[in-house]
Amino acid sequence: MLIASGAIYFSSASYRKEIFYNRLESKALNTAKLLIEIEEIDAALLLKIEKDNPVNLPYERIIILDYKNDTLYNTNTSGELLFSQKSLDRVRRNYKVFYKQGDYEVLGLLYTTKFDHFIVVVAAKDIVGVLKLKNLGIVLLVATLMSLLLFFIAGWIYSGRALKPISDVVKRVEEISITRLNLRVSEGNGTDEIARLAKTFNQMLERLEISFAVQKDFIANASHELRTPLTSINGQLDVLLMKDRTSAEYKAVLSSVLEDIKSLIDLANRLLLIARTSSETSGNLNSKVRVDEVIWQIQEEMKKYNKDFHINISIDDSLNDSEQMVVFGDEYLLKTAFSNLIDNACKYSPDHTVNLLLEHIDNFIKITFEDRGIGIPEMEMDKITEPFYRGSNAKAYPGSGIGLQLVNQTIKGHSGTIHFFSELGSGTKITVTLPLCY
Ligand code: ADP
Repeated sequence: MLIASGAIYFSSASYRKEIFYNRLESKALNTAKLLIEIEEIDAALLLKIEKDNPVNLPYERIIILDYKNDTLYNTNTSGELLFSQKSLDRVRRNYKVFYKQGDYEVLGLLYTTKFDHFIVVVAAKDIVGVLKLKNLGIVLLVATLMSLLLFFIAGWIYSGRALKPISDVVKRVEEISITRLNLRVSEGNGTDEIARLAKTFNQMLERLEISFAVQKDFIANASHELRTPLTSINGQLDVLLMKDRTSAEYKAVLSSVLEDIKSLIDLANRLLLIARTSSETSGNLNSKVRVDEVIWQIQEEMKKYNKDFHINISIDDSLNDSEQMVVFGDEYLLKTAFSNLIDNACKYSPDHTVNLLLEHIDNFIKITFEDRGIGIPEMEMDKITEPFYRGSNAKAYPGSGIGLQLVNQTIKGHSGTIHFFSELGSGTKITVTLPLCY
C-alpha cells in the first residue's frame, strides 16, 4: 500500500509539474512573439491586452529583456520576483531553465530571432495543481493508514481463528501429565494438518499410557515376586531365633534360606536381563554365535545342577555345514533364552525330558523344543509371554513368570521368531528360528 501510494503521489506530482511548465513555456513563447515579432504591438499595448486576458496563469509575472539585459516588458511591478545576473547567464547558457522561487514556478527562456536574442521569464503559481496534489496526498495517506488498520484488525481476527486449534491443542497438552495420561487433545475437523498432528499426538499418548500401565504392573509384580522369598526368609529366621536349636535344625533352616536367596538372585538376574534385552539395540548383536555349541554347553551345565533333567539333542540332515549354525547375536542372551525354554520343558514334564531338534531352513536355523508335559491352556497361549504371567496349571511348580518374556524379547531382538504349540495334558512344542550369518 505504501509503495503504491508513494508511486501514485510522485507520478502525479511530476505530471503536474510537466503540465504547468508546458503552460509556462507556451505563455512565454506567445508573449515574446506578440511583443517582438508583431510591430504594431508595443509593451504598453501588450500590458493592456494581458491585463484582461482570461487565460492568464494565476499570479502571472512576465519579464522580457534584450541582449543588454534592458527590460522591454515587465509585469513584475511589485518586484516580488528577483532575477540575478547569474540566473540570466544560466538562461543564456542553457536556453531554457526551470526553477522555483517561493511559491512561484519560474521558466527562463532564450528567445532568438534572426538578428537578436531576448530573455523571456515567466513565473506563476500553480494554485489548483498544488491544491489537487495536496488533496491527493491526504487521501492517499488516510487510505493507507485506514487500510493498514483494517489489515491489522483482519489479520488479528483471522490469524487468531486460524491458530485457535493449535492454541487449543497447546492448552490441552499443558494439562496432560503422567497422572493424567488418559486425556486426549481435540482432533478438530479431522481432515486438516492440525487434526493430523492432534491424531498423531493422541496415538502417542495411547502408547505412552499403555507403556506406563505395563511399567506400573511390572513394578507391582516385581515387588511382589521379591517380597515372597524375603517374607519366607524373614519367617524362617524369626522362628529359628525363638529358642536354641540343634545344629541339624540350623542346617535345615539355613539351607532353606539359601534356596530362597538363590531364587532371589535368579529373579534379580532375570529382571536385569529383561532391562538389558528391552534396551539393547541390534548394534550390540554383532558377534558370531554357534547355536549348536550353546545348546551343548547348556546340556553340560544342566547335567551338573539338575540331574533328573534329560536333554535329547538331534541335528537334522539339512544341517551339514558348521556355517549353517552360526548366527549374529549375544551369546549370553541366547544361552539364557534357550536355558529358559529347556528348563521350562523339563520342569513342566513328569518325565523331565526335552527333545531338541536343530534344522536348516532357507537362511534360518530352526530349533524345536518339545516335551510331553502338562501343556498350556489354549486360552492362556497369548498371555504366557507377558511379564509375571504364570499358567493356571503351573502354579504348583516353582517359577516367577518372567522367563518367557525374556525369551520373547531376546529372540525378537535377534530378528528371529518364536511359535508356541501346545495341547493341555499332552505336551508343548516351541519353535525358534534365527537368521543365519550368511
Ligand atoms: P515360569 O516358568 O517361571 O512360570 P515362564 O515365563 O518361563 O515363567 O513361563 C510362563 C508360563 O508359561 C508358565 O507359568 C507356564 O504356565 C507356561 N509354560 C512355559 N513353558 C511351558 C512348558 N514347556 N510346558 C507347559 N507350560 C509352560
